[in-house]
Amino acid sequence: MTQAKIIDGKAFAAELRAGVAADVAVLKEKHDLTPGLAVVLLGDDPASQIYVRNKGKQTLETGMRSFAHHLPESTSQAELLALVESLNRDGEVHGILVQLPLPEQIDEAAIIDAIDPAKDVDGFHVINSGLLATGGAGLVPCTPLGCMLMLRHELGDMSGKKALIIGRSNIVGKPLAQLLLNENCTVTIAHSRTGDLAAESRAADILVAAVGRAEMVRGDWIKPGATVIDVGINRIPAPEKGEGKTRLVGDVNFAEACEVAGAITPVPGGVGPMTIVCLLRNTVTACCRQAGIDEAALHG
Ligand code: NAD
Repeated sequence: MTQAKIIDGKAFAAELRAGVAADVAVLKEKHDLTPGLAVVLLGDDPASQIYVRNKGKQTLETGMRSFAHHLPESTSQAELLALVESLNRDGEVHGILVQLPLPEQIDEAAIIDAIDPAKDVDGFHVINSGLLATGGAGLVPCTPLGCMLMLRHELGDMSGKKALIIGRSNIVGKPLAQLLLNENCTVTIAHSRTGDLAAESRAADILVAAVGRAEMVRGDWIKPGATVIDVGINRIPAPEKGEGKTRLVGDVNFAEACEVAGAITPVPGGVGPMTIVCLLRNTVTACCRQAGIDEAALHG
């Protein structure tokens, strides 16, 4: 049995990040314009703090401006709305990201709704999800966009392929389904109420797992030669590393899947790095659109 190709999201993301940095350099040199990304974090959740730090670091590394707004957990809805509105008006800020999840006193939907759709680099605003659903030029959510770039890189033309996405969230499953439809795939979305998930999975040429359940997808669920994208990030105990230690795994049983799939993304090092680079790319896209600059012309 041949082993699946491991899709190296980290290496691909580094390549794309170099492209973002080159575009930022052109924007500065030819247009005297520096893209700026504002990231808003409420509270001290350790995982969110790591994500936000990483985003800020990579924003600066690509030559952009990074504006970090770290507010207390007790921030009120009105205070957060006032900050979002001031960022909407700020000419140096081209992209706004409010790190989710938000504390319970905040109405998440109202905050997303308040972000200027032109600066909504997470692509969660209804205007942007509507544009994605109707084939318009909005801002596309970063994780689905990252999955799509990897699939295009790996498979090229996807016309006629059967794609199964497990998970129907607004931030991953649903937007990815739209993107795969745009690539002329025949798309199925599975979820917690799907009848025979294993059988649905076995029919898929492209299998995307975005559930949040450690190693749920087994090797015998996978069609031989299929391309598998594992979006899940799950922390599980790792007693082999020592007492109380943990490790990250995806939604797919990686060792089993490697025996059957044609190609597969690892966790970590697959979708995760692609998500951040797509955020950087979306910030450049947003900046170009706000300034009326043709983004494609930046890279010659
Ligand atoms: P979510 O909780 O919003 O959605 C999970 C989906 O899985 C739901 O639609 C639900 O119907 C489905 N589901 C739950 N149990 C199921 C089951 N037994 N069988 C089939 N479907 C089931 O999650 P989300 O925000 O879409 O994230 C999914 C996973 O992806 C999480 O592990 C999250 O950490 C990860 N994630 C990773 C990145 C990244 O950058 N790599 C980004 C976003 C999310």
